[in-house]
Amino acid sequence: MADPKGFLNHGREVARTRPVEERVKDWNEVYVPGSLLPIISKQASRCMDCGIPFCHNGCPLGNLIPEWNDYAYREDWSAASERLHATNNFPEFTGRLCPAPCESACVLGINQPPVTIKNVEVSIIDKAWDSGDVRPQIPERLSGKTVAVIGSGPAGLAAAQQLTRAGHTVAVYERADRIGGLLRYGIPEFKMEKRHINRRIEQMRAEGTKFRTGVEIGRDIDAAALRRRYDAVVVAAGATTARDLPVPGRDLKGIHQAMEYLPLSNKVQEGDYVTSPISAKGKHVVVIGGGDTGADCVGTAHRQGAASVTQLEIMPRPGEERNANQPWPTFPMLYKVTSAHEEGGERIYSASTTHFEGDEDGNVQWLHLTEVEFVEGRLTPKPGTERRIPAQLVTLAMGFTGTDQDNGLVEQFGLELDARGNIARDADFQTNVPGVFVAGDAGRGQSLIVWAIAEGRSAARGVDRFLNGASDLPAPIRPTDRALTV
Ligand SMILES: Cc1cc2nc3c(=O)[nH]c(=O)nc-3n(C[C@H](O)[C@H](O)[C@H](O)COP(=O)(O)OP(=O)(O)OC[C@H]3O[C@@H](n4cnc5c(N)ncnc54)[C@H](O)[C@@H]3O)c2cc1C
Ligand code: SF4
Repeated sequence: MADPKGFLNHGREVARTRPVEERVKDWNEVYVPGSLLPIISKQASRCMDCGIPFCHNGCPLGNLIPEWNDYAYREDWSAASERLHATNNFPEFTGRLCPAPCESACVLGINQPPVTIKNVEVSIIDKAWDSGDVRPQIPERLSGKTVAVIGSGPAGLAAAQQLTRAGHTVAVYERADRIGGLLRYGIPEFKMEKRHINRRIEQMRAEGTKFRTGVEIGRDIDAAALRRRYDAVVVAAGATTARDLPVPGRDLKGIHQAMEYLPLSNKVQEGDYVTSPISAKGKHVVVIGGGDTGADCVGTAHRQGAASVTQLEIMPRPGEERNANQPWPTFPMLYKVTSAHEEGGERIYSASTTHFEGDEDGNVQWLHLTEVEFVEGRLTPKPGTERRIPAQLVTLAMGFTGTDQDNGLVEQFGLELDARGNIARDADFQTNVPGVFVAGDAGRGQSLIVWAIAEGRSAARGVDRFLNGASDLPAPIRPTDRALTV
């Protein structure tokens, strides 16, 4: 174990962020570079040999947290990295982007601030990359079996890496021009710099995974052709169909889905544009939706130089402490101040948009809203609370309803959907079509990176079993697992 008195001697300290006035002028990650490593050994020492590490259950990947905390405390970074990679293909993604349900389940968190698990995770992996410990793991022999993975988000990448390392010949098909899924084109650079994806892709290429960008399965290659070419298929196409807001004025210019707005900004960082074709510069911006995607729009609008940024959320403001129906070790819905919120803007809760108002040229100018409250379990407008706020750019960040069905992928493969509209699968992550598997948001519905990686790993085991009759690959989750937590 780490230092038996660590949690008594040291308080919780987290990664420091750069001053707001500095960081909104650039797109780099918000953290002070190098600030974590000097404190991380002490932070890891707070892990207290609790006996039953609930953090294991809090983490969908089952990360071996006390083991790598111990190595981090002893500054044995190589051993820490080995333990971390035993359960997680891409800790540099989760260490930056995971909401850390493990920390909500930390036993120390019952009566003290929990261990900074996520910060320890990212320190271990950054150190491993810097020291050259992350090397390609090339399979010793090839199975002669081929697998196509559709989609290059975290689920597709995790499945592809596991299957390549198991000796299968894997090709990842991605309709976008670059690899990474929402890691690449949803999540802004200031939350995760894309160099982290690029170096993983290089590792995967060196291991033997092939990548094909700009190819949409269903349109550019049909399902039958893919099935003829490959012994198995993993559909990791995400849940990219965005929920819309069909209120009067929705068709005015300047109202966009978040996933129309954010990718263009990321493309500026990739060097494809000088300025984004949809920019917040000088505009009053309203973001509809109070989740992570909404926060990413807020941070992006700040950096583009918005005149004002307002975020609307239809639900009431969450509390700052756990309440009775969200006890430890569950992941509570708490009021969150993300780095984007620290940077400014206003948040309005219990607000429902009634309609948009535009100018004579058809550009949106105002958003009309009403306050809402729960009446007999239903959100109901509060009479007399209608008002309008300036809105020259509106982004819709209200969640996603399922996998894209316009390209024919679901229909051509003949895939059945479950009651929630996601691609149905059995305990091995196999769809109703033998040899066709599903992983990530496409099967689970809109979720998190940590779940996508866990799904990719688990689906890889299903594929390996299908191809070989047995598998040594791990399966951290079952398709029906819902968190303790998120
Ligand atoms: C803006 C935003 C911010 C987020 N922030 C966070 C966060 O901070 N932390 C967190 O844990 N989660 C976050 N999430 C959620 C997280 O990104 C997703 O849960 C995760 O990326 C799902 O992974 P996936 O591999 O299943 O799908 P995706 O990442 O969506 O990847 C699917 C890929 O499949 C491709 N594709 C689809 N159809 C085809 C086809 N027919 N042929 C070829 N390619 C195809 C798509 O182009 C896409 O690249 C965020 C989501 C959004 C939208
Ligand atoms: S992946 Fe997420 S839940 Fe798992 S240990 Fe890392 S931060 Fe915690």
